[in-house]
Amino acid sequence: EPDAGSVLQMFRIRTARRPDAPQLHYFGTTLDRAAVDRLSDALAAGLERRGVGAGDRVAIALQNTPVCVLAVLAVWKLRATVVPVNPMYKERELGHLLADSGARVLIAHPATAPAVAALPDPGVLDHVLYSRTGALAADATGPWPDEDRADDVQAILDEGGTPRKATINRPDEPALLSYTSGTTGPAKGAINTHRNLAYQVATCRAWIGLDESDSILTIAPLFHITGLAMHLSLGLGAGLPLVLTCRFEPATAAALVERYRPTFTIGSITAFIALLDEPGTRDRDLGSLTKVFSGGAPVPSATVRRFADAFGVYVHNAYGLTETTAATVAVPLGTRAPVDEASGTLAIGVPLPSVHVEIRGETGEVLPPGEPGELAIAGPQVAAGYWRNPEQTRASFPDRTLLTGDVGFMDADGWVYLVDRKKDMIVAAGYKIWPREVEDVLYEHPAVREAAVVGVPDPYRGETVRAHVSLRPGAAATGDDLREHCRSRLAVYKAPAEVVIEDELPKSVTGKILRRELRGH
Ligand code: ATP
Repeated sequence: EPDAGSVLQMFRIRTARRPDAPQLHYFGTTLDRAAVDRLSDALAAGLERRGVGAGDRVAIALQNTPVCVLAVLAVWKLRATVVPVNPMYKERELGHLLADSGARVLIAHPATAPAVAALPDPGVLDHVLYSRTGALAADATGPWPDEDRADDVQAILDEGGTPRKATINRPDEPALLSYTSGTTGPAKGAINTHRNLAYQVATCRAWIGLDESDSILTIAPLFHITGLAMHLSLGLGAGLPLVLTCRFEPATAAALVERYRPTFTIGSITAFIALLDEPGTRDRDLGSLTKVFSGGAPVPSATVRRFADAFGVYVHNAYGLTETTAATVAVPLGTRAPVDEASGTLAIGVPLPSVHVEIRGETGEVLPPGEPGELAIAGPQVAAGYWRNPEQTRASFPDRTLLTGDVGFMDADGWVYLVDRKKDMIVAAGYKIWPREVEDVLYEHPAVREAAVVGVPDPYRGETVRAHVSLRPGAAATGDDLREHCRSRLAVYKAPAEVVIEDELPKSVTGKILRRELRGH
């Protein structure tokens, strides 16, 4: 297998071997490897003419479209670094990422134009390349508000050309500056190197058992690490066609599965819940998806069960962080994760090959099986640190080991169980409560679609437990019903004192429920 030091190099070897193999499927359009290579050359040449070279950062704010894939490859062909940006960001968020990363060129959907025009310091950007391909809400057309700096990606692609200097990515150079989701605080730029991505591709290809007969449904956004590592890099590096979805929408995704028969996907549990609850998708045949994983947020066992019942597709848990270049602990394909008898927690999986997981205590000592502590992860997928942030890097990556901020334990067979995020622990009248455990119980109730549990200040107990819940379409339950449901299944101090029924729970763009926003209610 052509596993090389970088995804770009793997892609080049595969393209040389089979140039006409399909690489991208996009709503009826298919690009083969040779076309992807040629078009990304043209875009690289266009970027080079605009002054981009080795070591520069280029921000990309696009949905899951062909141009997004071409743009990432083009940046790597110049030995520059990709800064993925959410295309829905407004000027404040965009401004933070541009200023922090020092990117002077942005490739974006025109929907981003108002944010670009309103940037606090528009001077940081030398060039904006707009791509109309792939509709967001409104597919705006030029003229762009900042016309003097703005170019059209399509015109650059039509122009053709190749970069003057063909380059090879060095393993230690940054491929991506991936800003974390910002679930717990301000987003930090993790440095994912070419080695990180190349290892992730080679590891997942071999461990999951993927080959060129497989293909990928891209349900995770390509502006976040799961999409970039486990869709884009895996697709280009391991030779798997990518079924691009633009922006994930359950009915469209289900139709694309029937049309292109993808076999592999990984995404947040929110996407799977959306597929379950969307009227009309139940009749769709999702059976081609035989290698399915969910990660990035807790995977409730009740949802896994419902999904298997509805579609005959088993969703395997996968755990990872931006700082570990996506999944590092996962449930092996075809295996059912064990449940810890004492706590009822479902295992998140076993460490992937070459990943080392330790459970550490308060003073950094390694804890024996069964004892909960902080998950520490070492291995070739662990990021090189945070961009221009030596202090945070030293704190989170001592000895090149990542301290995850997650609490979990390992059993004697090596299965890893996640308890929760360290920061989200609730202390009520001296009792420690992990929100996850209470959420799992809420998910067992047939009316519950999504649940989030937070601690709220209480003058007497320090904190009390409050649950926020949204209900499944057509289901009825009151806050009192759900409190009673929890009280009959949990120690009384863990049961929520209050259950708030909401239409929708606040989520990050990657589909994570934001407990921090609920605390403020
Ligand atoms: P920030 O670091 O900015 O607060 P974030 O931690 O949400 O954001 P990510 O790197 O996207 O940024 O998410 C990693 C976190 O997601 C993990 O630390 C863990 O808490 C959670 N997570 C990932 N996979 C799983 C999983 N399978 N089950 C439960 N939680 C998971």
